[in-house]
Amino acid sequence: SFDVLIVGAGSAGSVLAWRLSEEPGLRVGVLEAGGHPDDPDIAIPQKWPVLQDRPYDWAYRTLPQAGTAGRVHPWPRGRLVGGSSCIHAMAHVRGHADDFAPWAEATGSDAWSHAGLLPSFRRIEAFSGGASAQHGGDGPLPVWLPDAELAPVVRAYMAAGLARGVPHIGEHNGGPLKGVAANSLTIRDGRRVSAADAFLVPVLGRPNLTLVTGVRVHRLAFDGDRVTGVEAEVDGRPARFSAGTVLLAAGAVASPLLLMRSGVGPAADLSRAGIPVRLDRAGVGDNLHDHMLTAGNVYRARRPVPPSRLQHSESLMYLDADDPTRADGAPSVVLGCVAAPTTSERLAPVDYGTGFTILSGVTHPTSRGRLTVTGPGLDDAPSIDPAYFTTDHDRELGVRALELAREIGAAPELADWRAEEIHPGPAVRGRAALAAFVAEASITHHHPVGTCRMGADADAVVDARLKVNGLDGLHVVDASVIPSITSGPVHAAVLAIADRFAGDFLAAG
Ligand code: FAD
Repeated sequence: SFDVLIVGAGSAGSVLAWRLSEEPGLRVGVLEAGGHPDDPDIAIPQKWPVLQDRPYDWAYRTLPQAGTAGRVHPWPRGRLVGGSSCIHAMAHVRGHADDFAPWAEATGSDAWSHAGLLPSFRRIEAFSGGASAQHGGDGPLPVWLPDAELAPVVRAYMAAGLARGVPHIGEHNGGPLKGVAANSLTIRDGRRVSAADAFLVPVLGRPNLTLVTGVRVHRLAFDGDRVTGVEAEVDGRPARFSAGTVLLAAGAVASPLLLMRSGVGPAADLSRAGIPVRLDRAGVGDNLHDHMLTAGNVYRARRPVPPSRLQHSESLMYLDADDPTRADGAPSVVLGCVAAPTTSERLAPVDYGTGFTILSGVTHPTSRGRLTVTGPGLDDAPSIDPAYFTTDHDRELGVRALELAREIGAAPELADWRAEEIHPGPAVRGRAALAAFVAEASITHHHPVGTCRMGADADAVVDARLKVNGLDGLHVVDASVIPSITSGPVHAAVLAIADRFAGDFLAAG
């Protein structure tokens, strides 16, 4: 029996375990479906794209998406200690300060404003540029700003941006976000540092912390409206773990599913799936959203493109779609130059070393989908509908972002690298043709969020303290509580949410 039981040893779960077990009087348990990482490829930054579909990937799939020409999108998620941070692309981007204002507004709590989260962003990191008002210098997670290691083609693309009048910001986490910067990466000595490497594994020796791997949590256990623990499966056999408080940190797909398997979710969905309804909560699984990237604007190279020494995608360029020279505020679109010629599965592939891609995407999509259960069992696959490109906003900005990618791609600064544009190809011009191309070429940026959103309203799944509305002894603390997505990759924000929650939880006694 534990005082606090954390479900999921992924990104958020690792931070929760680190912070909560600092309190010696608190018995903290962590349950993880997967095992410890044992694939040496995980630590090698260049290998991140090939880790997908390996045995430690949950390997979800979306429903066919009308907004992307009927395509089904693979949704990798890590099933191992470290969770998705073992298979992710290692970019550390907090987001723009304005991204968090809607979080504070939705909850009525300054805890979730940028100012409220800044101490957590600083505490978790050891920034290679050193400590400052914006940065932490001695936290567990290395945040490294590469320089000489950047691929030469990426440098040329950054120069093209600067020549176009895009502001120089130097790094993504210093305040301004619109501009040219190399990606800050969670890499140390050439190796990936997962959230578990940084936060969880170093504290596993604490006597009050227990990590149990190979535990698939099936559903919550209740005494009335109070959650008393979880029912799980270990090696195919049922097991039960009891706790004073349960924290769901199973991620934006698995946390809402776990609630629904426990009878907490939209009543009609639960009944259809053969699950007795305990609490009719329409918000569980709703508000699902994600970033997409058009993959892409691909160029055949004039000369061999040297392999990336980092993780291929080394510089995200955040822009105002109306005026790329504008520096203030949150961006609306993003570009990224990839030394590997990345394409969606619908486009003719281009051999590594012979080309490069400029990715483009929308930073604040307004499309909202939902995910739900299809059955009561652990092996019943979820139904995932992110509703990609179902708003005019997303379709229009998706085209605009691609136009900006082509503008940068055609710049003189890239002339030494560019032989010709392969995708979409010079013949593809005009709004309708470009929109059709975006639908064929967009792939997930792997940032699903929002399925247990925080808020002060009655429909919110969790309140400002991340407690599940209508139940006691249960919180959700992971990417699913994000009410509206940040400008960039969400990992930094997920870690900060977990840190902020843990601090407040300990302070509340
Ligand atoms: P996770 O880290 O996924 O953790 C959930 C954990 O819960 C997992 O370990 C899982 O096995 C466990 N679990 C789930 N269900 C159960 C159950 N029933 N019982 C027991 N345990 C369970 N973000 C960035 O910021 N930068 C990037 O470069 C980036 N690239 C990405 C690339 C890929 C391929 C992917 C998949 C993601 C990427 N992301 C990136 C997103 C980022 O990794 C995630 O948003 C973040 O890791 C989510 O953290 P989480 O704690 O919510 O969930």
